[in-house]
Amino acid sequence: MNVHRAIAPPKAGPLQRAGDWLMRHRTTIQAMQWTVVGVYALLLAVPLFLPLPGRTATFWNDFTRFAQLAFWGVWWPFVILATALVGRAWCGLFCPEGALSEFASRHGRGGAIPRWVQWPGWPTAAFALTTLYGQMTSVYQYPKPAALILGGSTAAAVAVGYAYGRGKRVWCRYLCPVGGVFALLAKLAPLHFRSDPFLWKLSQERGDKPGPVDCAPLVPLRTMRGAGDCHMCGRCSGFRGAITLSWRSPNHEIVHVAGATPKPAETVLILAGLMGLAMGAFHWSASPWLVAAKQAVATWLVDLGATWPLTATLPWWLLTNYPERNDVLTLVDGALLVGYLVAAALGMGLALAAALALSVRALGRFEARRFHHLAQTLVPLAGAGLYLGLSAMTVTQLRADGILIPHVSAARALFLGLAVAWSAWLGWRVTGLYAGTRTARAAAIACLLPAWALPAAGWVLFFWVW
Ligand code: SF4
Repeated sequence: MNVHRAIAPPKAGPLQRAGDWLMRHRTTIQAMQWTVVGVYALLLAVPLFLPLPGRTATFWNDFTRFAQLAFWGVWWPFVILATALVGRAWCGLFCPEGALSEFASRHGRGGAIPRWVQWPGWPTAAFALTTLYGQMTSVYQYPKPAALILGGSTAAAVAVGYAYGRGKRVWCRYLCPVGGVFALLAKLAPLHFRSDPFLWKLSQERGDKPGPVDCAPLVPLRTMRGAGDCHMCGRCSGFRGAITLSWRSPNHEIVHVAGATPKPAETVLILAGLMGLAMGAFHWSASPWLVAAKQAVATWLVDLGATWPLTATLPWWLLTNYPERNDVLTLVDGALLVGYLVAAALGMGLALAAALALSVRALGRFEARRFHHLAQTLVPLAGAGLYLGLSAMTVTQLRADGILIPHVSAARALFLGLAVAWSAWLGWRVTGLYAGTRTARAAAIACLLPAWALPAAGWVLFFWVW
């Protein structure tokens, strides 16, 4: 048992005791992680050896359909929601990739972390590439691309763990394709490990000599002010009597912490990644715009006499190719799909950036720090979009299996409305930090209106118009 606290505080509340429990029960947590590793491996590997599900297959009589629902219909939406509620507990307590990477790092060669690995743009770039590639290969529908993308990511996590760091989660800290998304959502969590600088200093002055903390994602404990990088593993609970699991306002980190250090990669992830690319990834299969573009391109190619791109296909690992399921994307389909997603990312990203830039300008002279801070106010709306898109797959899959969830439409409308209201409230709070006058604040808020309306309109189109 590793107890950090030199002088225990007199009364530990239930939350603090919960944090301490995590710190003391590493073996239980590891057993849980290895169980998840086993379940993850089964869900990923077994469908590879089974025939594709027939038309009448359901999740209770076909393992592939079960794995599909488990991965994309339950696991993903659950993790997104859980991260916004309790921080990155999934990463620290359950994630099979993190557990394997850390295990590999404990038994690896322990190399220094190269500078290229520490490039802050990796989580955004990796999210964009996996989203694009996942749509090209229909990762939600078929076991082979799921195994390739998820299994490939796990293999890379193990390789990075083996190569760099001593028992640390270098992959999770710098490279994980969803690490950036989780770091954003965790900023909304009302639960976090709080590091109190005053108590820390007091402990130093007392001459406390606590043992080192094995913080796998390399969070600087003394200066930790936000929850974005913390994996909620609890290993630092009680350290120097200064770190405790605590409640906070879900607005606190966005309003008071996120503006201190501008993170352009996070801004790109929010504006173009989550609100543009991810929305496009959920939209494209229902989009009448894509159908119209395909007809126009087909007509143009026929007129040119070059019809081969309308029938040419690629292997399944480049572009969806399942003729036995009547599900094949031609070169034209693939090019238009990629074009649609890139256009969604650029179009939405640039439109939102313009709204934010105008809002910053309305507050005074343009400052990049304010721009990035305002972008953070859109995190509730961006996270809600991701959740709505993923849960739409849950609803569709369950409906295909004869299970109807009541009041889905009303619940979606309410959820979207609350997300817009939350982002608007954060926008109000953050503009209040910078506005010199009421008029400037009102003008800044007016400029933000399109930044709330555009993403909301995108979801309205998807759920209620198309
Ligand atoms: S700061 Fe590090 S050690 Fe503490 S809970 Fe977070 S991840 Fe674990």
